[in-house]
Amino acid sequence: MSKKSHLNPLVITLAILLVASLLYIVVTKTAAPTSPQAENVTASTKLIDAESKPFINSEHDQTLADLGIRPDWTILDIWQDTITRDDFLNLLTKVYTVDDTWKRYITVHDDHAIILTDTRVKDASYRLNFSHILSATSPDRNWNAAGDLPPTTERKPLSGVHIAIDPGHIGGEFAKLEERWFKIGDSKPVMEGDMTLFTAKIIKRQLTRLGAKVYLVRKNSSPVTLRKPADYRAEAEAKAVSLGITDESSITALQNKYFYRTGEIRERARRVNLAFRPDLVLCLHYNAESWDDPSNPTLTTRNHYHVLLHGAVTSGELAHDDERFEMLVKILQRSHDEEKPLGAYIAQGFAKFTGLPAFNYSPESTRAVKVKVEGVDGLWARNLLANRIYQCPVIFLEPYVMNNQEVFDRVQLGDYDGMQMVNGIMKKSIFREYAASVTEALKAYYLNHRAIYSPQR
Ligand SMILES: [Zn+2]
Repeated sequence: MSKKSHLNPLVITLAILLVASLLYIVVTKTAAPTSPQAENVTASTKLIDAESKPFINSEHDQTLADLGIRPDWTILDIWQDTITRDDFLNLLTKVYTVDDTWKRYITVHDDHAIILTDTRVKDASYRLNFSHILSATSPDRNWNAAGDLPPTTERKPLSGVHIAIDPGHIGGEFAKLEERWFKIGDSKPVMEGDMTLFTAKIIKRQLTRLGAKVYLVRKNSSPVTLRKPADYRAEAEAKAVSLGITDESSITALQNKYFYRTGEIRERARRVNLAFRPDLVLCLHYNAESWDDPSNPTLTTRNHYHVLLHGAVTSGELAHDDERFEMLVKILQRSHDEEKPLGAYIAQGFAKFTGLPAFNYSPESTRAVKVKVEGVDGLWARNLLANRIYQCPVIFLEPYVMNNQEVFDRVQLGDYDGMQMVNGIMKKSIFREYAASVTEALKAYYLNHRAIYSPQR
C-alpha cells in the first residue's frame, strides 16, 4: 500500500505508453505481410526455442550457392580485352544459359559488358571490355588445351597432359548415407562410389601408359573433407530456416548433404584447383533410375549413357553471385572450346564400346542444353557443382543404369580378364568396358589434336 503511493501519475502514464508501444510493435510485426526474411526470423526463433540451443549467428546467404564463397571479381582483370562481343554472346546464350534472365545481371554494350557483382548492393558491377578483332585462342589459364601442347609421338599421345580423375561419391561405409547403395536379396550391395573408384584406377593405369600424368582426386572410400556431418549443423539450420522446413529430420538431411556432397565436392575442388592444376578433370559416375527402397529396389529395363559439359546455368543459379562469377570464368577461359570436342569423342567412345543408346533430356528441360556435334549423341551441358568449380575443362560421365538387370548382373560378376557371357553376349567386365571407352576416346582425341612426329631411329 505504501509503495503504490510512491508512483506518481507521470511514471504510470509513461509505463502505459511503453507497454502500448511494445504491444504495437509485436502486433504489427506478426500481422504484417511476411517477407521471406521475416518468416525466417520467426522460424529461426521457433527452431532455437524447440532445441534450446544457443543463438546461431550463421544466416543462410541467399545470394550465394550453398557453402559458396563471395568471389573477388578483380580476378577477371586478366581476361580484359580477350574475347569478342560475338564470341561472348554466343557462349553466354547458346551454352551457358537456358533463357533470357541473364539480362537481369549482364548488360552487353558495343565494346563492353557490365556485370552485376553483388546483388545485395545496388549497382555494384564489373566492367568487362571486349576484344575488337579476334578472341585470344589461348587466354591466361592454368591448363593446356590439346592444341597448346608440344608435339609428341604416336605411342605417347597423352605425354605432358595432366588429368585428374574424380571418382564420383565416397562409397564404402558412406554409401548408404549418400544414397548410393542398394542390394537385392543376398547379393553384393551395389555401391556407386566403390565402382567409380575401381574404374578410376583402371583408367589411371591406361592413361599413364599413354604418357599422361594422372591424379586420383580420391584414392579410397573415405571422404576427402576432414569435416564431419555435425560440423555443418549451423549451416544446415540456417538453410533449413531459409527454406521454412525446420523439423529435425530435414535439418539432418541437409547437414548430411552438406557433408557428403556440397562440402566434399568443394574440398575436392580445392585439391584440383590448388594442388593438381590439371588440364582436364574426368568425373566418373554410374547412372541410375529411381530405385525407391534400397533394400528392395525397383529394376528398370532402361540402360543408356550420356556425357555432360558445363553450361545451362538456370535463372535461379545465375542469381547467385558466386555462380555467375564461376560461369564467367568458364566463358573467359574458353573451357567449352576444349570440353565440346573432348566430350564428343568420349560420347562416341561410349556408343562404340558399350553399345548403349544415348540418354536424352526432355527437349523442354530447363536444366540441360543439348550440345550439337555432327554424328554424336548423348552430349549435354548442365551446371553441376563439380563441373562448375573445377577450374579447367571437366567431362562428367554418366554411362550405365545400375538398377538395370543386365548392369546389375555385370556388377555381381565383378572384374575379370577377357570376356564372359552376359545375357547371351560375350562381354568385358563392366569396369574394363567403361575404362576402354574413355581411354580409347582420349587417345584418339589427342592423336587428332596434337602434332605427332616419328622419333629418329
Ligand atoms: Zn553418381
